[in-house]
Amino acid sequence: MKTIPTRDWLFRYLDDLLQMKTLGVSKEQVDEAINRSELRVLPFIYGSIAFLFVAYTVLQLTLLREPGLELIVAGALLSLFILLLFWALLGQERFAPQRAGRLAAVLAFVILVNIQLRFYLTGEPSQAANLALFVFAIGVLFHATRWYLFMLVLSFAALMQAFVFFVDSPDFHYYLVVTLAAAATGFIAHIGRVQAYRRAEMLRILAEQREQELHRLNAQIQQFNQQLEGMVAERTQALQAAYARLERLDKTKTDFITIASHEMLTPLTIINLNAQMFIGDEEIQQNPLFARWAQGIDKGVVRMQEVVDRMLDVAKIDSRSLDLHPAPLDLPFLIRQVANRFRSALAERHLTLEMTAMADLPEIEADAEALQKVFYHLIINGIKYTPDGGRLQIDGRFLRHSSPPSVEIIIADTGIGIAPEAQPFIFDKFYQTGEVMLHSSGKTKFMGGGSGLGLAIVRGIVEAHHGRVWVESPGLHETNCPGSRFHVVLPRHQPS
Ligand code: ADP
Repeated sequence: MKTIPTRDWLFRYLDDLLQMKTLGVSKEQVDEAINRSELRVLPFIYGSIAFLFVAYTVLQLTLLREPGLELIVAGALLSLFILLLFWALLGQERFAPQRAGRLAAVLAFVILVNIQLRFYLTGEPSQAANLALFVFAIGVLFHATRWYLFMLVLSFAALMQAFVFFVDSPDFHYYLVVTLAAAATGFIAHIGRVQAYRRAEMLRILAEQREQELHRLNAQIQQFNQQLEGMVAERTQALQAAYARLERLDKTKTDFITIASHEMLTPLTIINLNAQMFIGDEEIQQNPLFARWAQGIDKGVVRMQEVVDRMLDVAKIDSRSLDLHPAPLDLPFLIRQVANRFRSALAERHLTLEMTAMADLPEIEADAEALQKVFYHLIINGIKYTPDGGRLQIDGRFLRHSSPPSVEIIIADTGIGIAPEAQPFIFDKFYQTGEVMLHSSGKTKFMGGGSGLGLAIVRGIVEAHHGRVWVESPGLHETNCPGSRFHVVLPRHQPS
């Protein structure tokens, strides 16, 4: 349904009243805005018109009793005077909207003169009032700003005309009604204008408030952003500094390992030589006590040699100077060879090691010496972290459809397992779980001592072969023994 403009206006007015309360624009704020507007000069306009009206009436009654040319001229001049007054007011800066107001004033002037002339030519006073009411009706319907002054001027013109005839004529009631209608027209036009202004003003204040709020929020966001950027820059700098320090430390560690292991080699060789001489000496062999001492020295030297070798391996991996010589290799055969080295340790600890046939495994291209180290460390770890009576299982399969085609070896044990939070770190050098000092010292004993380098060497060698190594374990439990599964995936061929 199409809304009638007049009703629309009414609703908007009610709406404004409600909005003024709910949207946070107080009545005082709007009143203040109105005081600053062109509506302020309205009482002055009314006053001027009233004064002119009285002057005109006096002129009509005293000087020009008979209608004639002088009266028409005087009426037109007075009308012109009223309009000039409006014109002057409209020209003031705060009397907005100026251009629309001027247009309305010019129109009003033309119509006013027309009314004057029509009335004197026809002698029909109602013509003037009727015309004013008609214009008022259209004005209300459109309710546009520019109609306001137009209607105001016309209503006063009509008022003036009607009153003159009211004084002159015996038809009292008729002119009284016309007079009141014209007065009401002016009044309603004025109220309408005030309300429209209130509404516009309220919306303007609201918009202004929102813009201010938006500006404030924007400024706040910008401030936050700057703070955040500052913080991020600060943290990044701190992180970079920490990273550089860690890198320096790591390099120092690697340098130390390299130097220390090389430095130890010379005295070790001398000790070894002398130990061999002791062991081979007949006199010492005949003395059981001396012979035991000599064997003790030899055992220690072998152990020391292993530690130094491991340190050298890690140093090579760290400095990426691992020298690999890949050649076709029968992996199950190599693993079996390594496992055989632990035969006595397994028997001593009542551990069983099962190895499937792995018949479908193809030969792979790899460095045999390096891979021996890989499986040495994985099997010895399985032995170390599995309690007596446990089981080790070695399995393998050919991943012919993977890219590149690879073989996978799985070494599973029924040992103590590895905590999930430790799993990402066990392949780092020197990483050991539990209390290092509590480890027993025998290298195949349960929880036997280690250097924390075994898995670092494993990862270094596997990755140098373009392979992957990882662990799966439900967790660490020294009595329930959930076990661990180490996976090693090696490509069948090394990329050229
Ligand atoms: P370590 O010389 O201490 O054995 P590794 O680098 O070989 O050093 O292993 C690092 C850590 O990973 C070990 O201290 C141990 O906690 C854990 N770990 C390695 N293999 C196993 C395994 N099979 N079962 C349980 N824990 C293991």
